Amino acid sequence: MTPVLSVKDMTVRFSTPEGPVSAVNGVSFDILKGECVGIVGESGSGKSQTFMAVMGLLASNGKATGSAKFKGDELVGMKRDKLNTIRGSKMTMIFQDPMTSLTPHLKISRQLTEVLVLHKGMSERDARAKALIMLDRVKIPDAKRRLDQYPHEFSGGMRQRVMIAMALICEPELLIADEPSTALDVTVQAQILELMQELRAQGNMSIVMITHDLGVVAGLCNRVMVMYAGEFCETASVDEIFHDPQHPYTRGLVGSIPRLDKPGEERLTAIRGQPPNLQHLPKGCTFQERCDYVFDRCIAERPKLLAFAEGRGKSCHLKGFDAKGEVLR
Ligand code: SF4
Repeated sequence: MTPVLSVKDMTVRFSTPEGPVSAVNGVSFDILKGECVGIVGESGSGKSQTFMAVMGLLASNGKATGSAKFKGDELVGMKRDKLNTIRGSKMTMIFQDPMTSLTPHLKISRQLTEVLVLHKGMSERDARAKALIMLDRVKIPDAKRRLDQYPHEFSGGMRQRVMIAMALICEPELLIADEPSTALDVTVQAQILELMQELRAQGNMSIVMITHDLGVVAGLCNRVMVMYAGEFCETASVDEIFHDPQHPYTRGLVGSIPRLDKPGEERLTAIRGQPPNLQHLPKGCTFQERCDYVFDRCIAERPKLLAFAEGRGKSCHLKGFDAKGEVLR
């Protein structure tokens, strides 16, 4: 199957007054049609910057190298006007803070219809009719009246729904959602995730869900890529990540989730220490300072992400862990 998005050896560097920061360090992956992939990791692991680079939205001090192809078209270095025909119509992104994407002084109707008029050549009238359908679809009550309101007249949860409507109105083939529900209260968060699940079930759209919350991933995704210090350390199906994690960092993440389904395992374990300084990454494994299983080779040699089973990969010098959780060296 041809991937919707194919990223090869992508790096992202930021120049800062303190020196260069390596935010993403040579990542490669594919996103296939119709799949929902969770990108998991702590803040600063590079998960958002990877996709900001794909979208051509890095801050002015950031530079991406490598390749990111959307259905065969190279995005890295693509001219802005051509990139704009893909962004916002075939490939869209929603952010944690809807106010960064909504223009405060423009009515919601204008913000929703503009993309249809510009990218799809629709008449204002048809675009407005479609905007109304989208607001209904994301469950904005009284959509007809709401269409002529300004962003500040909507609650945080409703603004997030409007942003999802904006992202979906052109029926994109790839939706990148960056912590779309984190800033919302728990009830609204659940509603937004339910909505994303419905939207996924309705179409062939591929979804990338960037999150630090494994609970979100469990409810929505079918594949997971775990990111640490600008690299992927484990990739697997959702089931495998939760029931048979093979990288020590993934095991730490899974161990830090409350397990109400397993009596006697309710105690949470925290991952000790802090992520490495991205300005001075160690020569060997970037997780070495926090890993309970570190040995000589980890300090001398950076492990590569290698396939070890069908659809699974990890970057660790250990053989793995057995079904009882015992380490295999
Ligand atoms: Fe731990 Fe070594 Fe594996 Fe890194 S390579 S995660 S330090 S065992």
